[in-house]
Amino acid sequence: MSSSSPLRIAIIGGGPAGLGAAIALSELPNVEVKVYEKAKELCEVGAGIRIGFNCWRVLGLLGADEGVRGHHKVKVNHRNGLTGALVGSTNAQDLPKRLQPHRVRRRRLQAALLAQVKPGVIRLGKALNSVEDLGEGKGVKLVFEDGEVTEADLVVGGDGIRSVVRDAVYPDHTTRYTGTIIWRTLIPWSKVKHLPEIAETTAWWYGKDGHEYTSPVDDPEELCDAERMLEISCRNLLDPATDLTKRFNWGVPATNERVDYDPQVREAMAVAPEGTWREFSAFAGARLDKLTAWDKVVLLGDASHPLSGAFGSRAAFALEDGWILARAIEYTRGSTHALRDALKIFDEIRSPYYMRMYEFLDEQKGKAQAVKHLSPDQRFEAALKLRADGLNMESKMPWIYMNDIVKVWEQWIAEHEGPSRSNDRGSIAKQDSVLLDDRRAVTAEVSVTA
Ligand SMILES: Cc1cc2nc3c(=O)[nH]c(=O)nc-3n(C[C@H](O)[C@H](O)[C@H](O)COP(=O)(O)OP(=O)(O)OC[C@H]3O[C@@H](n4cnc5c(N)ncnc54)[C@H](O)[C@@H]3O)c2cc1C
Repeated sequence: MSSSSPLRIAIIGGGPAGLGAAIALSELPNVEVKVYEKAKELCEVGAGIRIGFNCWRVLGLLGADEGVRGHHKVKVNHRNGLTGALVGSTNAQDLPKRLQPHRVRRRRLQAALLAQVKPGVIRLGKALNSVEDLGEGKGVKLVFEDGEVTEADLVVGGDGIRSVVRDAVYPDHTTRYTGTIIWRTLIPWSKVKHLPEIAETTAWWYGKDGHEYTSPVDDPEELCDAERMLEISCRNLLDPATDLTKRFNWGVPATNERVDYDPQVREAMAVAPEGTWREFSAFAGARLDKLTAWDKVVLLGDASHPLSGAFGSRAAFALEDGWILARAIEYTRGSTHALRDALKIFDEIRSPYYMRMYEFLDEQKGKAQAVKHLSPDQRFEAALKLRADGLNMESKMPWIYMNDIVKVWEQWIAEHEGPSRSNDRGSIAKQDSVLLDDRRAVTAEVSVTA
């Protein structure tokens, strides 16, 4: 690639990671961005999604926050799913309303992102089959299922938790079915409006083998009662060793009968029209040491951190990834090894962030193991107590939920353009040992940011 030719960027996947990256990267000068999505049409199937401060922040940067409206989560109730007893409640954070957590229809998030993607960027029905490094100084060859072959200077793997791009660059990495199955649907809000615990407030209903989650997903100031919907999500934990059904990971149609759960919110569940449930099998994998490869491939969103269902904030992570990638490419543009340097910066900022999440999950796993020896009833009570102790995740983990991606970037810049270091962009790539030291610094920084 000559320095004057456009940087050819191939983004694989049209989910939040791919669309967010497409918006942020298309803003850069002299780039040629294409999104390759395997689906024939982009239609989001995942019911509702939580949008909190970190996500609002990056949606605003992408110009995609306006169209995203939903249920303002003023309060969230946590209940014993067998008795209905209240285990605890959490209240909205002290933030302007538009930055507080909302539950929104996924379709709205997708539509808001799509509206910001430049025309002609997305190519549908393009399932990536393989990725090949063409060698030093050359690009990457992409082969699609329909036989099309193309080349790119940078490949952005935004192809989800079972990423083909990740498989190509890290063939030894595997994901596995965790045993958790989630059934999700949207039902007409008016059909449950006589059940105030369900209709008005977001609620978690903890059962013996999982939980149910109910939440309005629309803004009553925007939509009339007849137009509003309510989300129901049921999570069930099976033993993956004995569950021999072949599992797919995303949005498989499921019958009403299949959604087998405790009777607490049965009345609401029974409202779901046949054919509207979707089944999601959770997959997870180990943390990747590096989110980039070959100096020309980068993994974003679920492809980069196969964390399963943790944190309820991964759409934000996916969008933050794309925005930071664009900043890093912008920053190194014009230097001798611009792309290599940019990917190093990206990895330096995002890897420690995900590492911290994995460490937190390991800690949680330890706590769950500690109650495994108890009888089922004792285990249920102990699990409820763990839930009650774990409430207010948002204020306990500000490094995630209050993450301000602009500040993260500004702090990185401040660290690297301080008095002891010249503003020589090329020097970033030359000083590998410095980068290793800085990685630790960024870990500390992120925690301070939060
Ligand atoms: C049950 C459940 C509840 C969740 N709740 C929340 C929540 O409340 N808040 C939140 O922030 N996050 C939530 N998440 C997580 C969130 O949905 C994901 O983190 C987010 O969708 C990740 O975006 P992504 O773009 O990385 O991956 P995806 O959304 O999976 O998108 C990947 C895209 O790549 C395409 N693709 C895959 N393979 C190929 C290929 N070979 N070639 C071309 N295209 C390909 C897919 O078709 C898809 O469009 C939840 C997830 C689940 C399963």
